[in-house]
Amino acid sequence: LLQLIRPLDRLGQLYRSIKQSLTDVEQMLELLNQPAEVADAPDAVPLPAGPGRLRFERVGFAYDPRRPVLRDVSFELPPGGTLAIVGPSGAGKSTIGRLLFRFYDPTSGRILFDGADISSVTQASLRAAIAVVPQDTVLFNDTILYNIAFGRPGASRAEVERAARLARIHDFVAGLPDGYDSLVGERGLKLSGGEKQRVAIARAILKRPRLFLFDEATSALDSHTELAIQQSLREVSRGTTTVVIAHRLSTVVHADEILVLEDGRAVERGTHAALLARDGAYAALWARQQADRDAAE
Ligand code: ATP
Repeated sequence: LLQLIRPLDRLGQLYRSIKQSLTDVEQMLELLNQPAEVADAPDAVPLPAGPGRLRFERVGFAYDPRRPVLRDVSFELPPGGTLAIVGPSGAGKSTIGRLLFRFYDPTSGRILFDGADISSVTQASLRAAIAVVPQDTVLFNDTILYNIAFGRPGASRAEVERAARLARIHDFVAGLPDGYDSLVGERGLKLSGGEKQRVAIARAILKRPRLFLFDEATSALDSHTELAIQQSLREVSRGTTTVVIAHRLSTVVHADEILVLEDGRAVERGTHAALLARDGAYAALWARQQADRDAAE
């Protein structure tokens, strides 16, 4: 009988782990809200090692061939630099993130990461090098520990706590009756938008990526939480190449470079101060947001 039970038990374990990984993959795709549309090239190689230099070369893209969404977008982000992408709703900001994570391939031009065309490397190696903090984080129905450690399976408890401290969620977690073992998600503790985002940031830190991709939440967080999150993002991304898809201009003031998209085109590029001085599209966006803010207050 034992001989029968052991394999059955192992089968049960295998089933659970397969089911869990499927849920994880599904959740990941759901997190990023996109289908997996591209396949590895037959001769795809792993992404070569490198410091995290990103280059968009005249990238064009259309979801529907009749309607271009990105046209001729070029920029270069040196290792450790921060690029913020801003622009009106529908300008194509999130699309840049989706191309970078290779949910789609550009229709023209190319994207180079540490010198390699990302369409020629394996998706697994590309995605291992990039940590995404999505707009709306979906948490697993599991413990906080699991939800953070998901960034790097096998991470120790101490590593999880370190990441949580950097993401400024540790004190909150430590104050819960069950601490890191607290259940979250639909069947557990409901976290606020800001708390969920901090769990996502901790997860991203743990991944030790070559590039952070932050898709800022469009839904308004209260200004205190917003400031705290922006500050943790700045600390966390120091020294690591970072792309921020910014929906609020207050996030971008500290970026090394700001790329202003309008109708799929990069219409301006520069620092906050330089773009204000230029008095063009960015200055107009900034003035409009300040006015909205004043009106709200
Ligand atoms: P927002 O600030 O509102 O998030 P955005 O600048 O990030 O906007 P994108 O999400 O990149 O804009 O969308 C750019 C354009 O592409 C929009 O017109 C949008 O309707 C369209 N689009 C986005 N996703 C898809 C899709 N999966 N299929 C077809 N069209 C899409």
